[in-house]
Amino acid sequence: MKSVLKGMLLLLLLALCGAAVFVFFVKLESHPPVIEVKGLPKLAGRKLTFTVRAEDRHSGLRELSVYLVQGRKKILLKELGWPVSFLRGSRVHSREISFSVSPVEKGLSEGPAVLVVSAADASWRNRLRGNLSVKRVPFTLDLTPPRVTVLSRTVYLAPGGSALVLYRVGEKPARTGVLLNDRFFRGYPLKQGAYAALVALPVTEKVVRKFVVLAEDGAGNRLELPVSYYLKRRRFPRVRMRLSDRFLNFKMPEFISRYPEAQKNDLLGTFIWVNETLRRRNNKTIAEITSRPSEAPFRISGALRALPHAAKRADFGEFRTYYYRGRKVSRAWHLGLDLASVARSPVPAAAPGRVVFADYLGIYGNTVILDHGLGLYTLYAHLAGIEVQVGEEVSAGQTIGHTDTTGLAGGDHLHFSVLVQGVFVTPIEWLDPRWVRTRILDPLKDYR
Ligand SMILES: [Zn+2]
Repeated sequence: MKSVLKGMLLLLLLALCGAAVFVFFVKLESHPPVIEVKGLPKLAGRKLTFTVRAEDRHSGLRELSVYLVQGRKKILLKELGWPVSFLRGSRVHSREISFSVSPVEKGLSEGPAVLVVSAADASWRNRLRGNLSVKRVPFTLDLTPPRVTVLSRTVYLAPGGSALVLYRVGEKPARTGVLLNDRFFRGYPLKQGAYAALVALPVTEKVVRKFVVLAEDGAGNRLELPVSYYLKRRRFPRVRMRLSDRFLNFKMPEFISRYPEAQKNDLLGTFIWVNETLRRRNNKTIAEITSRPSEAPFRISGALRALPHAAKRADFGEFRTYYYRGRKVSRAWHLGLDLASVARSPVPAAAPGRVVFADYLGIYGNTVILDHGLGLYTLYAHLAGIEVQVGEEVSAGQTIGHTDTTGLAGGDHLHFSVLVQGVFVTPIEWLDPRWVRTRILDPLKDYR
C-alpha cells in the first residue's frame, strides 16, 4: 500500500516537473515573432504590392497588424488576432498576407512614408500579452509621372511607311517609347534629354487608333502624350503569279530536303506549305530578331544604298495571288524589293551596321540581317552563301554576300527588305536621299 502511494507521489512529482518545464520553456519563451516584408520598393508609385509574413515557431501567433504611417496619419491595412489557449498557445505559427493597395485612395500623399508591421506571440511573458515584434520599412511615394514634350510637329504615317518621333523627357524614364496602335516602339536616348523613336505602320494597317509617346518612371507613374500626325493613304499593287511545273520541280526539292513537314501529296501541296506556313514562321523569326533593342550606333548619314546597276523585278507591298493551271492556290504579301543584276553579283551593305543574323532562313534562303541602330534593320535574301558572321561590324558598301536563288527564288536576284523595330517597311523611302534628309537626318541634327 505504501509503495503504491510512493509511486503515485513520484508520478505527480514528474507531472509537476513536466508542467514547470513546459511553462518555463514554452509558455514563458522569450522569442518574439519574426516579421518579413517582401516586394515593397524604396520608391513606390500609385500601386503598392507587397507581402508580409510573420512567424513564431515557439508559442504561435497571437496578433498581427499592418499600418501605413505618414506624418501623423496612421492607416490600418490589416489587423488579425487568433485564439490563444492557456496551455497550448496559438495553433497558428505562420501567416503570409499579400497586399495590393492604392496609397492615394488610402489618403497618403507624395513623400516619405513607413510601413509598420507588428506581431505578438502566445507566450505568457509581458503580462500574458506575448513577445512583441515591430518592423518598420521606410519608402518614398512618387506620384508624379515624367514630364514629356513632343518635339516632332506633324508626323507623316502611311501603311508600310517609316517615321521618326522626337521628344524630350524631364527625368530619366525607366521605360519610354511610342505606342502606335498595338505596337510599342522603343525610344533611344539622344543628347539634352531628347529621345528618338523610329515607328512604322505595317502594310495591312490602314487606320491609326492610338499614337502616343509613353514615359514611365521607376515608381510606375506613366504618361501618355498624343503625337499629331497625318495619315497618308497608300495603294499596293495586286499581282498575279503563275506557278509552273518547271518552277515547282526546280524549287520544291530544296524545301523537302530541309523540312520533313514540307513533304505533301504533290509539289503544289509543298508549295502551299512553304508559301504560307514556312513564310509565316520565317517572318516571325525576322520580327523577333529586329524587335530586340538595337545595339549598333546610328551612323546613317544619307540614303541607304541598294544593289548597284540592278533592275527592279518586284515591288514592296505587292499582294500576290498564285495561280496553278488557272486555279487560285495561295496568296502572300511581298515585303521587300526584288533587285536583279548579273548572276552572283556582290551585295553591298546598305549602310554601316552590325550583323545580327547570317544563316539559312526558309523562303529567304541564305540571309543576312544588319542592325543600323535606332531599331532600323536591312535584310538581304536568296544569297549564294554566308560570308559574314553575327556580331561583325560592316561599313557602308562592304560586300556581305553574293546574289543567288536560295530559298523561294525563281531566278538570281537580291530580295532587299528594310525593317523598323520588327515591322517591314517600304525601302523606297530609305533609298530616297531627300526623304532620309528631311524626315530623319535634319530633325535629328541638333540632338546627335
Ligand atoms: Zn522578293
